[in-house]
Amino acid sequence: MKTVVGLDLGGTFIKVGLVNEKGKILKKEQLLTLGKKGKRTVLSQMEKGIKFALKGEKNVSGIGIGTPGLVDKNGKVFSAPNLPDWNNLPLKKIFQDKFHLPVVVENDVNTITSGEYVYGAGKGYKNIICITLGTGLGGGMILNGKLFRGSKLSAAEIGHIPICFGGPKCNCGNVGCIERYVGATYISQIARESIKKGRKSKIKEIVKGDLKKISPRVISQAYQKGDSLAKEIWEKVGLYLGTMLSGLINLLNPEIIIIGGGIAQAGKPLFDSIDKEIKKRAFPLLAKDVKVVPAKLGTDSGIISAASLIIGESKK
Ligand SMILES: [Zn+2]
Repeated sequence: MKTVVGLDLGGTFIKVGLVNEKGKILKKEQLLTLGKKGKRTVLSQMEKGIKFALKGEKNVSGIGIGTPGLVDKNGKVFSAPNLPDWNNLPLKKIFQDKFHLPVVVENDVNTITSGEYVYGAGKGYKNIICITLGTGLGGGMILNGKLFRGSKLSAAEIGHIPICFGGPKCNCGNVGCIERYVGATYISQIARESIKKGRKSKIKEIVKGDLKKISPRVISQAYQKGDSLAKEIWEKVGLYLGTMLSGLINLLNPEIIIIGGGIAQAGKPLFDSIDKEIKKRAFPLLAKDVKVVPAKLGTDSGIISAASLIIGESKK
């Protein structure tokens, strides 16, 4: 069976592995990204990781790379958050020349979308919206069986869809973007402010009064213990997401919406609230059939998804 190298470049870690056609990881390694030391260091760390995956292997058919930032169809990275000197970096060419294997480079959320499409919750579907919910809100789309990149290669910035005419300022410069309502920092902020106003909650007990320690994970723990504030918070996040997704459902008529990232682990209260809002707002004919599900690939999703960029390509 053929194998592929999958490399997930993150702000802190590089995760790399050898993956077979079925999406099973045969070996894996984690290295520090060392982004502050500049691009030469990062590229050398990536090379080390790829060499580890290739060592002793004969049937490797390519290298798939998921990277932060904006990537063009030639595998050039224009800019990447947390990697300040990554400007116009021909990542695909660099590794193709070095290893003499086909290389595919894609933006990280598009990579996860491809992984869920080939191996995960989106398997068998042709029209998929994928969102990753963590510090920010990332998005990717498969339309008619293909990753949709738009005309300037930066489509599916779902986190920056405005849901409010005014609203709080977002990092992108706009106001009222959905990311500003559902990102980890803001979810934690809702809990903190409610507790400061005197609301009793198990969230305060879990962090032993240190409100700085409140995180989406803590809110989920409190929810498991029956906390009403935690329940309200997840319902609110679901309300915002469901509202935005209703618009996307009416626009694109997807078969399935996949939600990944740390916050998706909030589970039932979040998904129930999203469902409720979609049923209320989207066209009934479209809302009736769309499935909203958690991502399936789990902790190694970055490596498997990066490998899917090569494997998915050969299956087309
Ligand atoms: Zn924004």
